[in-house]
Amino acid sequence: MKSKPANKIQDLQFFGEFGGVNPSISDSSTYTFLSANSMSETFEGNTDGCYLYSRNSSPSNLYLEKACAALENTEAANVFSSGMGAITSTIFQLCKTDDHIISSRTIYGGTYAFFKNFLPDYKISTSFVDITDLNQIKNSIKSNTKIIYCEVASNPLLEVADLKKISSIAKKHNLKLVVDNTFTPLSVAPKNFGADIIIHSLTKFINGTSDTIAGVVCSSSSFIESIRDVNNGSFMLMGTTMDSLRAASVLKNMRTLHIRIKKHSENAMFLAKSFENIGIRTIYPGLKSHPSYNLFSKMMNKEFGYGGMLSIDVGSKENANKLMEQMQKKNLGYLAVSLGFYKTLFCTPGSSTSSEISDDDQKKMGLSEGLIRFSVGIDEDISRTFIGIHKSLKNLKII
Ligand SMILES: *Cc1c(COP(=O)(O)O)cnc(C)c1O
Repeated sequence: MKSKPANKIQDLQFFGEFGGVNPSISDSSTYTFLSANSMSETFEGNTDGCYLYSRNSSPSNLYLEKACAALENTEAANVFSSGMGAITSTIFQLCKTDDHIISSRTIYGGTYAFFKNFLPDYKISTSFVDITDLNQIKNSIKSNTKIIYCEVASNPLLEVADLKKISSIAKKHNLKLVVDNTFTPLSVAPKNFGADIIIHSLTKFINGTSDTIAGVVCSSSSFIESIRDVNNGSFMLMGTTMDSLRAASVLKNMRTLHIRIKKHSENAMFLAKSFENIGIRTIYPGLKSHPSYNLFSKMMNKEFGYGGMLSIDVGSKENANKLMEQMQKKNLGYLAVSLGFYKTLFCTPGSSTSSEISDDDQKKMGLSEGLIRFSVGIDEDISRTFIGIHKSLKNLKII
């Protein structure tokens, strides 16, 4: 089922209570029932048209969930108070004591720390693999393996997972393929390649204004129902619920996602080519020099480009720190973690977002100390940014 995930948001028609062009914001934690009977039925899971309690669901959250499901071409979605809330709830719903996970070794630092440090106490173990090596994935499968976990484009090396091939391995062994698509919304639709569960940190590109923490899980109706279950749903029982006011705000931002992503991608491509031209080691899946160039090109929705994330290697931590400080002083962007803002954000992943990964492991995976990760902004004129950075690279004698 190939569909254009992009502008499906245009097909949604949500009216407000009084005919407003935006849906009304639900401002209640609890809901009245017209009869005592319908209350008990709702508790038994028959929530059709009835709300129970806003930790379980609320009208505003359901609107955002419909938009996210449309974005990822899934039957349903559930929003969370954070991306980590979405990830941890998914894992705890699928994995119990003595279960096993196969995960890409280059994943978001928080997810890595959760798998490596937190889950072993619950007797859930993880094998970390090079996700581009299908044999490593196959060889790691055990009788107690439940899921294969990866990101479409990994953080910060932007290695691309071959979702079609990985999902066929998952299906053959009855495993769930869980994919974090935070870096590449619209550009790649993992469901179309067989992913079972798609997760986003809405905090990043989808919300796009760096004003909140939020997350979503997009999947089949049955999985979404299971995590919301009053008696044994991880989301319902751990309570990582999004507030209604925030859900309304994220939904409004999401309506411009298609325009923003195109601009993020266009600007990132310009910077990537420009950095490569002056001899800086540049990591961007839209460059022919990137090992995942062909694969990304095959998987992508062309009109949205290769995404807004790129990394450059300036040789040493000292160079990276000096360059980032100069770039901020010149107002070319902000020295900050996170991504998807209108302004360019940069950080050194080795000592920040991937600091949970040991120095030894960082070296093994090619995550060098001088790596600077950029979330490229939506500046009207990105060439100005490049000229500024180029000057700084020369001033600092990096080139
Ligand atoms: C930020 C991020 C997360 C975590 O999301 P939060 O909203 O910060 O909890 C997970 N995965 C990726 C790829 C991220 O960039």
